[in-house]
Amino acid sequence: MFGRAPKKSDNTKYYEILGVPQNASQDDLKKAYRKAAIKNHPDKGGDPEKFKELAQAYEVLSDPEKREIYDQYGEDALKEGMGGGGGGHDPFDIFQSFFGGNPFGGGGGSSRGRRQRRGEDVIHPLKVSLEELYNGTSKKLSLSRNVLCSKCKGKGSKSGASTKCAGCQGSGMKVSIRHLGPSMIQQMQHPCNDCKGTGETINDKDRCPQCKGEKVVQEKKVLEVHVEKGMHNGQKITFPGEADEAPDTVTGDIVFVLQQKEHPKFKRKGDDIFVEHTLSLTEALCGFQFILTHLDNRQLLIKSQPGEVVKPDQFKAINDEGMPMYQRPFMRGKLYIHFSVDFPDSLTADQCKALEAVLPARASIQMTDMELDECEETTLHDVNIEEEMRRKQSQEAYDEDEEMHGGAQRVQCAQQ
Ligand SMILES: [Zn+2]
Ligand SMILES: [Zn+2]
Repeated sequence: MFGRAPKKSDNTKYYEILGVPQNASQDDLKKAYRKAAIKNHPDKGGDPEKFKELAQAYEVLSDPEKREIYDQYGEDALKEGMGGGGGGHDPFDIFQSFFGGNPFGGGGGSSRGRRQRRGEDVIHPLKVSLEELYNGTSKKLSLSRNVLCSKCKGKGSKSGASTKCAGCQGSGMKVSIRHLGPSMIQQMQHPCNDCKGTGETINDKDRCPQCKGEKVVQEKKVLEVHVEKGMHNGQKITFPGEADEAPDTVTGDIVFVLQQKEHPKFKRKGDDIFVEHTLSLTEALCGFQFILTHLDNRQLLIKSQPGEVVKPDQFKAINDEGMPMYQRPFMRGKLYIHFSVDFPDSLTADQCKALEAVLPARASIQMTDMELDECEETTLHDVNIEEEMRRKQSQEAYDEDEEMHGGAQRVQCAQQ
């Protein structure tokens, strides 16, 4: 129970608790949480533990900032705070242990040996470009960390002697008692503040001159981080035991979490790469070729088959030109090209005539005068469809609200 057990962080648990997919919208989350909270409410016989878990999961996922951290780095990152220097005691580090009912148990620590605590892992985000993930790279990073003082070997004193902390009688822990009810007492143990949980204090005159009794000193260290071909956004690269050293502590890890920077041209999805390309109408109809510079600067010649027509919004793929697969870099995903077609804004009568000579005949020409006489004339206007849909949606939401309030009022009237 001393410190936190090393835990692999996992960023799906909260979604599983709420029973929603990882891409769930805020609305979906809210609905799922409300439903589950009603079902599991302790007042209605639900399991209080489960209810607490739900609230915790919702608290994180409903906050976009926390959700992003959770999605990328898992639960631990939220507790640690990103890129914290480590070494300090954050509130989650101070463990709370709950004992059985015996209020007169006395020397809480007597039967238990001093266990080594595990130091904090230090998590650093590491920004990488898509080129770097494609080609692989290594980065030298200079970090400062605490190491045990070499002069006193982490004792903090010249003589190696220390005296028992008066605040905790040398146990390093303090016990506080909370009365929960007439027959219920809760004992809570927490590290002693006076000695930072070490159980020892050092005489002023005996302090080690190098570390001033702190037992540790700062050291600069250069770590070489190897980013391998095909690594993914959010992937972790761990340096075991390279975090801050402290006496009687198993040193935690330094963990780099890859953060892929947006690429101006290529989008990555898994092992595949997507790229946008716009063709002129002539190219779409009569054929095209263009050069695409890949992430390793190779020039790919991309061209259509003779006689082939490319339609707007069409996708085509080139096999084995996607991302190299992690640890199997000789295997590659696909490179998808998403085509847009740039249509001319208008054509002259002559251009129309020339096109009509080669393209399939117009449907409208086949209408008889009789048919046309029976029709009503209309006018087509230009629209910004996205803008209009947005306006309609907010109008609908407003109407729904109105209906709900209206309905409630009616019920009230009926009761009066
Ligand atoms: Zn020292
Ligand atoms: Zn103490």
